[in-house]
Amino acid sequence: MGPSGLVRVLVLQIMPATSSNKPYRVARSKTGLGLFATKPIKKGTRIIRYFGPILDSRIPAHDEIENKYLFELNGRWTIDGSVRKNLARYINHSCRPNAESDVRPRERKVFIRAIRNIEPGDEINYDYGTDYFKAYLKPIGCKCPSCEAKRKKLRAEARAERTKVKARTEAKAKKTGAKAGKKKLNGHAVGKKNGRARA
Ligand SMILES: [Zn+2]
Repeated sequence: MGPSGLVRVLVLQIMPATSSNKPYRVARSKTGLGLFATKPIKKGTRIIRYFGPILDSRIPAHDEIENKYLFELNGRWTIDGSVRKNLARYINHSCRPNAESDVRPRERKVFIRAIRNIEPGDEINYDYGTDYFKAYLKPIGCKCPSCEAKRKKLRAEARAERTKVKARTEAKAKKTGAKAGKKKLNGHAVGKKNGRARA
């Protein structure tokens, strides 16, 4: 476990439990709140249901509802996941997720399912999809661990490049300086002057 894992475990211990028999709980994540595993979750396991009132786009009053927890099932049906009891609404987006949304339009149900083995302390996340990414995440820069790691790598590469350029520039300056120094030394009538002073 790395240092960040340790911090995560500490955070989990401080945060109040939301439900002790469930393999997850809500805890502080880098970008606000998130849903974190409290027990090992095997790949393929149905973790939690994303639920809330079903909205029908053909009903104008339904169609007017706007919040960031709307989960579109298809052109007609949408789940309004903004209800408090829907803990799945805390699950953050990731471009390299450990879970996925299993959308069942006919049943009008959505389940979040593990697509990798998830360890206690891991944040659970799924890919919100291209539309959401383009509309909400791309403009502000995606803060998911995968994108953060990518940015960190790019920053490190930029830093390494700057160091290389600096070293090259310094080496060049030294060379030029040495040449200039030699020239000065050659131009100097060292022997004569010193000889005179000593005499
Ligand atoms: Zn991302």
